[in-house]
Order: sequence, then C-alpha cells, then structure tokens
Amino acid sequence: MGKRTYLIFIMFYATIMSMKQTKEEMAQKAHLRYLRNKEHKIAKREEWRKNHPEEWNARIRKYRAKHPERTRQVAKEWYYANKEHVLVHLKIKRDNIRSEMIAAYGGKCACCGELNPRFLTLDHINGGGNTERVGLGWSGSSIANHLKRKGWPQAGYQLLCFNCNCGRAYNNGICPHKTNPLA
Ligand SMILES: [Zn+2]
Ligand SMILES: [Zn+2]
Repeated sequence: MGKRTYLIFIMFYATIMSMKQTKEEMAQKAHLRYLRNKEHKIAKREEWRKNHPEEWNARIRKYRAKHPERTRQVAKEWYYANKEHVLVHLKIKRDNIRSEMIAAYGGKCACCGELNPRFLTLDHINGGGNTERVGLGWSGSSIANHLKRKGWPQAGYQLLCFNCNCGRAYNNGICPHKTNPLA
C-alpha cells in the first residue's frame, strides 16, 4: 500500500465513521424531539382538558354512548380492581352527605334536642299535615343528595330523633314529650 493510497483510505474511513456517527446522532436527536413533542402534546391535551371540562365530558359521554359494551367492561374491571377503595369512598361520601344534611337542618332533634347524629332522622311534613320519614341511613343518601341539589329547602323539613319519631307514631302524631311531660 503506497503512502497516497493509505492516506485516501484513512480519509475515506474517517468520513464513513463521521457519517455513521452523524446518522446515529441524528436518530437520537429525532427520538429526543419525538419524546419532547410527545410530552408537550400530552401536557397540552391535559391543559385543554382542565380548561374545557364540559367539552371533555361531552366527548367521554359520546364515546361511551358509541361503545356501551367496552364502557361496561372497563367500568366493571375498574370496580373489581378498586372495590375496597370504592366501598370506603362511598361510605365516606354517605357519611359526609349525612353530616351536611344534619347540619343544614339544625343539628338536633326538633322535639327533645337529641344531638347524637346517629339517632337523628329527617321528617318531611306534607301540606296535608301527614309526615313522611326521610331516612338518613343507607338509602337516605340519595334523598340527601336530592335535597342538597335543591339547596337544602327548609320549609316542611325537620330533624327528629328516632325516639320522638316513634313516640309520635304511637301517640296520634304528637310526641309524648308534648302531651305527657312525665313520659
Ligand atoms: Zn327527640
Ligand atoms: Zn319528643
């Protein structure tokens, strides 16, 4: 190999190597650009989602309406994967709405002043004077939610403890506290 041929070979080799490196670098840069872009896109979407809750919910509703089977499946899988958490969460929600309701209606029995929330129940006094017990227990949370949505209407509603509530039922609609002070 002559000196000249050797030099040409070295230069050729160097060029090839630098090209290879450039190619790798370019690929790496492109990949980084892709990742940055991806993060940027996700961040942008999250931002849009935060600023457009109604549109986002509408999109979700639309998707769910279009794919009912898939929606049911996903909900089911999610429920079983998070069952314990869901039950605890629902209990907390029920307890919270119950406390809110008791506070909204004065926090004590309208007849005897019982304060223990576990003894309290909500009465709805109808126009005709009939009373209808609105349970505050397990099934009562939906009624509480309903009343909350209406802004806790006061007219016709009062808290009673179970004692006064039952006493009234056995005493022609008037709590024995009122008709017989010794009872
Ligand atoms: Zn009472
Ligand atoms: Zn009473």
